[in-house]
Amino acid sequence: MKYLDEFHDSERAQKLLEQIHAVTTRPWALMEVCGGQTHSIIRHGIDQLLPEQIELIHGPGCPVCVTPLETLDKALAIAARPEVTFCSFGDMLRVPGSNQDLFGIKSGGGDVRVVYSPLDAVELAAQLPDRQVVFFGIGFETTAPANAMAVVAAKRRGLTNFSLLVSHVLVPPAIEALLDSPVRRVQAFLLAGHVCSVMGTEQYDPLVERYRVPMVVTGFEPLDVLEGIRRAVMQLEAGDARVENAYARAVTAKGNPVAQAVLEDVFEVTDRSWRGIGMIPQSGWKLSDRWHDYDAECRFDVATVTAPESTLCRSGEVLQGLIKPSQCEAFGKECTPRRPLGATMVSNEGACAAYYQYRRLEPGSVTISQRTEVPVV
Ligand code: SF4
Repeated sequence: MKYLDEFHDSERAQKLLEQIHAVTTRPWALMEVCGGQTHSIIRHGIDQLLPEQIELIHGPGCPVCVTPLETLDKALAIAARPEVTFCSFGDMLRVPGSNQDLFGIKSGGGDVRVVYSPLDAVELAAQLPDRQVVFFGIGFETTAPANAMAVVAAKRRGLTNFSLLVSHVLVPPAIEALLDSPVRRVQAFLLAGHVCSVMGTEQYDPLVERYRVPMVVTGFEPLDVLEGIRRAVMQLEAGDARVENAYARAVTAKGNPVAQAVLEDVFEVTDRSWRGIGMIPQSGWKLSDRWHDYDAECRFDVATVTAPESTLCRSGEVLQGLIKPSQCEAFGKECTPRRPLGATMVSNEGACAAYYQYRRLEPGSVTISQRTEVPVV
């Protein structure tokens, strides 16, 4: 199939691997900032085919994983209200809040629905004028344009019973926080191709200039990932540092100006907590004052909800590349995909879930007797 088979070609993969092996002379730590790339790396065993000097660190690139616990508790509080029809993508339904998840609300009689687009939720609001329809809008710059379009569409249609619970996060401030960290290990980044298709590559130029760290825009198929790694290692070995686009079939320097215009209209930059990491200044989007009427946090008065994180979970260290998931004492024991302690075990894109699915039988990981579950795919 075009665009799939051609990026799974084993001969081309072998050539790329040979080039990576040939060029690598020293240890390097590369971070991918996208859960889709993490999943692809672990699923295809890419990290195990690389020279042993190259370490891949799985950064905070899974949107479900970095959504803070307090946002989940806000979602649960709203979804439990009798007048609310709460809409979300399916991957958020199993993410645990402090006491339960959205499935729990649904099984208790709450009207929680899975939709495939925020515009489906807008349509639902038109069909159910006596209900308050809320869409759970989380994620990186990738999902934000569709969420922004949803409130624009609701306004155009005169729907006053639609609102958005927003917890968007932005990649560049997270990279900046990682590079400013006193325990920083990463020496080059594989940037998320889909984020760059919206925002362009230019917004990373100041970061490269300031920190002198190579950044390669990378896709998601195995050959995409290998090509991103190859280019990053070549830059590192040459002492170079620039933004390079290895996903040119979807990404341009300036990104998508139409999407950016909608984002600028609907959202404004705000401080945002990242689950497992904590507050990163100016690292998220919230609805701007102009769209205040569509803000579910205000409409349902949940803005002050707070929640402490699990003390057992070490996902913050996983997301910063300080430990591998299997080094967490709870991995595969207290924490499994069916009973996740932290969000990196919930989503298929989370590093802990990927290790559980593909690496749990390896030496040094949890023993078979400690595992009791079949992973949820
Ligand atoms: S294995 Fe579970 S508890 Fe440990 S870091 Fe991952 S999500 Fe957190």
